[in-house]
This record gives sequence, structure tokens and C-alpha cells, in this order.
Amino acid sequence: MPEILKVSLGDRSYPIMFGEDLTPQVHAIAAELQFGGKKVAVITDQNVAKIQGASLKALFGDAPVHAVAPGEASKSVAEFGRALDFLAASGLDRTGVVFAVGGGVVGDLAGFAAASYLRGIYYYQVPTTLLAMVDSSVGGKTGINLKAGKNLAGAFHQPHGVFIATGYLKTLPQREFAAGAAEVLKTALLGEPKLFSQLEKSPLTPDDPRTSQVVRRCCEVKASLVESDERENAGDGGRALLNLGHTFGHAIEQVTGYGAYLHGEAVAIGLCAAARLSRELGLIDKGDVARVESAVAAHGLPTKVREPLAISEVMAAMARDKKARAGLPRFVVLRSLGDAAVRGGVAPEAVEGAWREIGCA
Ligand code: ADP
Ligand code: ZN
Repeated sequence: MPEILKVSLGDRSYPIMFGEDLTPQVHAIAAELQFGGKKVAVITDQNVAKIQGASLKALFGDAPVHAVAPGEASKSVAEFGRALDFLAASGLDRTGVVFAVGGGVVGDLAGFAAASYLRGIYYYQVPTTLLAMVDSSVGGKTGINLKAGKNLAGAFHQPHGVFIATGYLKTLPQREFAAGAAEVLKTALLGEPKLFSQLEKSPLTPDDPRTSQVVRRCCEVKASLVESDERENAGDGGRALLNLGHTFGHAIEQVTGYGAYLHGEAVAIGLCAAARLSRELGLIDKGDVARVESAVAAHGLPTKVREPLAISEVMAAMARDKKARAGLPRFVVLRSLGDAAVRGGVAPEAVEGAWREIGCA
């Protein structure tokens, strides 16, 4: 029997189902919708369509499938338009349902298309990357990137259900697995000290027997933060804690052009930068920073930027962050490894110091 975790959000509540293979469960829902006269449409990417083609066929039969080019560049205004046109061309009315099958890129794009099409239709998330399983498929943040920055257009639109079948990870490239591990480390650092010490002793690997349990724990943490603060309004604590490492990470992605670093790689460096900033602020010590770095490195992730980025540029990118108010964003900092907090009014010198320590100039 698959395990189920409920995300409790009143009339937007939904289940997250966990298992190695959830073909029968997803197929049953899709078939029931179709049998009831509702149109089902699948949005995925071209790698997943190829590598998991047989799975898509088993799940959705001959439902229409729209496969975008793999990669962050598909979270664009142009691809968003094409996804909407696909839903219209597939004849979905307000009872139509979208299945997003893929990584975070597909989930964010398809979720935003479902949020906007006919002012919002149901969608299900079927994440196929570790990153999407532990982070982006849960919580209802959907969106695309603008030239001015990442995720600058989007909507809160909760999925109707999430199907986390960890069997998909078998075909995931190692670099992508590592990128997902960055979000696992983030989750551990912001609230799961025991998970962090487990991971620093023995890093997560693709065929790890702990994977399904770790994925589930990350979803529990995320679900509870989302339940307490669905729209990230809480000034302190709440959903904003999930941005640990992301203020730095997003700036790295933006300055290097999306694609040079995978999102998870930028977040990994961002976690190291956030640890260094926390040390500059006197919250943790050098030994803690070293532990964060060695856990990041042990997961095959970078701890510093590959080429120095100009501090003036990354600082300017941070000021454009959508969470920024008048100059610098609020930062998620570590009070200890496994306990995070949100800090406003951080001195720019401290932030610049953190950038310098991770290899910027
Ligand atoms: P993320 O989930 O990290 O946001 P993407 O959505 O960009 O990232 O997916 C990362 C890459 O992995 C893409 O090239 C995608 O096509 C590929 N991919 C996704 N799921 C699988 C899978 N189960 N097996 C193989 N490749 C996959
Ligand atoms: Zn992230």
C-alpha cells in the first residue's frame, strides 16, 4: 500500500502519495477522469517523454502530451504561451485536468499554465527528479522566469494531488540527483538536525535505501511550513525558511545566466554562503561552516563559485530579488545546524563578506 501524507489547507487540501511505483494509482485517477468525460492533458519534457515514454503510456494511454525542451530556459513567457495553447488545442474545458510529469521546470510551468488556463483548472504533480520530489512539487508555487529574474511571474495554485514514485530516480543523471540533494540538505539545515547529522556522516546516493524515507521527511517539513504560511506572509519563520541558501543561489543563477549552474548547484553554494553569513553575524562558528561545506561537498556539490563573480553584480541581483524590500532582501540564517531564522536589516558588508568567502571578487 502506498503511504499518504495530507497537506491540510482547508478546501485546497490534497494528498501526497509515496511509493516506488505508483502506476496503478495515477492510471486509476486519469482513467476515471477520462471515463467521466473530463479531458486529461500531460505536460512533460522531451527527456522524460523519451526515457519514461513507456511509463507515460501506461499512466495516460493516448491522452495528449506536450513535451517542452528540457532545462530552465523552458520556464519562459514563450513556453508558457505554448503550454496554454496546447491546453486549448486539446479541448480542455473547466473540468479538464493537467498532469505535470517531470522535474521542477515542468512542474512550475505546467502548474502556472493550470493556474491561468480558464482562470484555473486542477492539476496533479508527478515529480520525476529528486529536487521536484523533495521541494518543488509540494506547496503550490508555480511560475516562470522573466529576463529581470527567476520566478518573477507566477501564481499560488495548489495541486490536486502529488504522486511521488521514487522509482523514477533510477534513470535520473547523477548530476541531477546531486542537485536535488542540495534541497534535502537545505531542509535538514533549516529544521532537521538529526537528518543533517545522518547526511553528513553518510551522503545520500541514488540507490540508497534511505531515499524514500528522506523524501517523505522533506515533504513533511515542507507541508507543515506551507500549512502554517501558505502564501509566505509570515514575517518570521514560516514558509520563508525554505528560502535558505536561495537568496544567494538565485543571484548566482541570474548573474551566470540560467543554465551554467543547475538550480540545486546554485543552492548548494548558497547554503555555504548562508552559513558564512551566519558566522559573520556571530550565530554559528567556523566549525559549523566547515560541517556545512563538507556535507555539501560529500554530495558531489560545489561549495564555491567556479569562476569569481563580481560582488557588485551579485549584490545588484540580490536587490532585484522579488523578496527584496528597499535594497537588500531578508536573509535566512542559521542559528545552529538544523535551526534557521529570517533576518532583515543585514549589513551589506556582512553579505559582501560572505560572497567573498565563496570565491567572488
Ligand atoms: P529540477 O527538477 O532540478 O528543477 P529539471 O526539471 O530541469 O530540474 O529536470 C532536470 C533534468 O532531468 C532535465 O533534463 C530532465 O529532462 C531530466 N529528468 C527529469 N526526470 C528524469 C528522470 N526520471 N530520468 C531521467 N532524466 C530525468
Ligand atoms: Zn530551490
